[in-house]
Amino acid sequence: MSISKLSVVIPCYNEESNIQELFRELREVGDQLIFSLEVILVDDGSKDRTYEEIEKISIANNFVSGISLSRNFGHQIALLAGLEKSTGDIIIMMDGDLQHPPKVIPELIQKYEEGYDIVNTKRIDDESTSFFKKKTSKLFYTLINKLSDTKVEPFGADFRLMSRETVDAFISIQEHDRFTRGLVSWIGFNQGIVAYKANPRFSGKSSYTLKKMIKLAINGITTMSSKPLRISLYLGLMFFVTGVLYATFILYNYFSGLNVAGWTSILITILILGGIQLLIMSIIGEYVSRIFNETKARPLYLIKKNTNDES
Ligand code: UDP
Ligand code: MG
Repeated sequence: MSISKLSVVIPCYNEESNIQELFRELREVGDQLIFSLEVILVDDGSKDRTYEEIEKISIANNFVSGISLSRNFGHQIALLAGLEKSTGDIIIMMDGDLQHPPKVIPELIQKYEEGYDIVNTKRIDDESTSFFKKKTSKLFYTLINKLSDTKVEPFGADFRLMSRETVDAFISIQEHDRFTRGLVSWIGFNQGIVAYKANPRFSGKSSYTLKKMIKLAINGITTMSSKPLRISLYLGLMFFVTGVLYATFILYNYFSGLNVAGWTSILITILILGGIQLLIMSIIGEYVSRIFNETKARPLYLIKKNTNDES
């Protein structure tokens, strides 16, 4: 279990104004380590000068390397690209905007030394986290834990330490739609947790727009569980039973010679049933599109440049 190298993997999308400061803080932590440090910065197709900043740092520091993906592949894939390049005995993944404070790293390592293979983190919200983000994040975790067989710890972040063994296990999962938190929980091993206070973003703005958050939530649920598909069974049963009861009522009226006004009841039935059918079709569609995506078996990402290329 002796450690000789720590790899820090950081996905960066439009983080030109954060990288230098992040690296400065990382180096401070690295200086106190008794083993060597490797920093892998993954530029996820940024539109700003992120890669130029990465290059600058890697030229001046030989323990830093950078990869530039051929386009924006998204946070989860950028993370994977960095992990696949890492060579350390232990690996830490963290964000490039200083929301995951490097000074928590020694605590993660300490926890690892207590005998955990994976050390996850739990965010203690500060005032800067918006009310909306807190509420939506809570709703998301309640939903995913109700629907999925793999438990996902609420308020987790993609800030964690993993042993070489667990990173290799994680990399061996070649799924396209990746929900890192769920997959890490799925691989098992001995997992511990460390709480940390999140910083506000150092500079720039979050690229997780509402649209991306909804996409991540749908991804998280549909890649970890097939329970939504069962909704049609329950809805179908419910409507069948209601239908039979209603039919009895109508037939009774018919044979007793009562005239039932049809317009309202027919319209309500058509609209409700139509809506439910569309909803269920869209759930099935979600899963079909996932099958489609996985069967194409395209590479998960493409690398355009590498800081080690120039030498
Ligand atoms: N990120 C990325 N690709 C993307 C979006 C984000 O690599 O398409 C990186 C980003 O640079 C940061 C991390 O993923 O290091 C988390 O993103 P962000 O800070 O925007 O999300 P939030 O902290 O608001 O959840
Ligand atoms: Mg952030």
